[in-house]
Amino acid sequence: MKSIQLAGPYDLRLAEVERPHAGPGEMVIAVRAASICGSDVRMYKNGYKHASEEHPLTLGHEFAGVIDELGEGVPETYAVGDAVCAAPNYGCGTCDACVSGNTHLCADYHAFGIDIPGGFAEFVHVPAQIVSQGNVAHIPEGLSFAEAALVEPLSCVFNGQEICGIESGDTVVVVGAGPIGIMHCLLARARGAAKIILNDLNEERVRAAAELIGDIVALPGEGLGERVMAETGGAGANVIIIAAPAAPAQHESLEYAAMNGRCLFFGGLPAGKSEVALDANLIHYKQLRIFGSARSNVRQFRTCLELVAGGNIPLGNLITKRYAIDDFQEAFDAAAAGTCLKNVIEFAG
Ligand SMILES: [Zn+2]
Ligand SMILES: [Zn+2]
Repeated sequence: MKSIQLAGPYDLRLAEVERPHAGPGEMVIAVRAASICGSDVRMYKNGYKHASEEHPLTLGHEFAGVIDELGEGVPETYAVGDAVCAAPNYGCGTCDACVSGNTHLCADYHAFGIDIPGGFAEFVHVPAQIVSQGNVAHIPEGLSFAEAALVEPLSCVFNGQEICGIESGDTVVVVGAGPIGIMHCLLARARGAAKIILNDLNEERVRAAAELIGDIVALPGEGLGERVMAETGGAGANVIIIAAPAAPAQHESLEYAAMNGRCLFFGGLPAGKSEVALDANLIHYKQLRIFGSARSNVRQFRTCLELVAGGNIPLGNLITKRYAIDDFQEAFDAAAAGTCLKNVIEFAG
């Protein structure tokens, strides 16, 4: 079968590898759509510890497809031919994090396309441990495979917004107008935010995103703090989400947070540049809360499937272009150049 493998920095290859089969408790999913994520692009540009010339890694943690093979003992809720997608992160299953449902926070965490073969391939092998943790979810009626693939990044956004607690009536600022920032805007609206302000240093990006989202306030460029204060009548924003790898944006967010405000540091910072100065007195006197979030759990993944299927989040609008696997290089180059929102690799059924 064909698979897209990373062997080092800027070294992605279309490889012919052995097709997987399902042992006891396992599954094989025939992939129909897999979307390129910012983290795939980072791994492509920088290389990755689990991807080498000797041990190339099949990338892809956002994918959907059809069950192609079922091993002995897989629960009867699954049948060959079912349309499914899979939450990529799984844990040991027995530690406190896993038992609390947060398998994505397990110290022994693994994931498709991160350290086991992922979805940029004609078939994906699903280990028994993943099947038993419930990661494989049926795609609700009305959702396309490409939309189902995009549910994974949305579930990470959902995790972040559960943690920082967007409430109806909140004014929300999102910094970063990429796919993740756009998903934050769409979800914040679905959760009842009264006003959503979107910022990015790239003005063109903000304008395009604002048009796609509709009915938000676009504030591109620098000097965001003063403009948020003006936009909110001096009150500041209730929730600020930094969905960009930008330390200055994290630093500045405390200044225009409202009293009792919440800041979510959603995007990771580049390695070696993650020390950020924060004004502790702003945190103290404004009674601010600062949160981090990373990845998502299986419950959040399944909830997001329902949310998208219910028509509350038009995820399909984020798809820029669809590619056949043979054209993977073009798809990755566009993603690396930032000239697209979500590029999707599609496979014929
Ligand atoms: Zn992703
Ligand atoms: Zn665990």
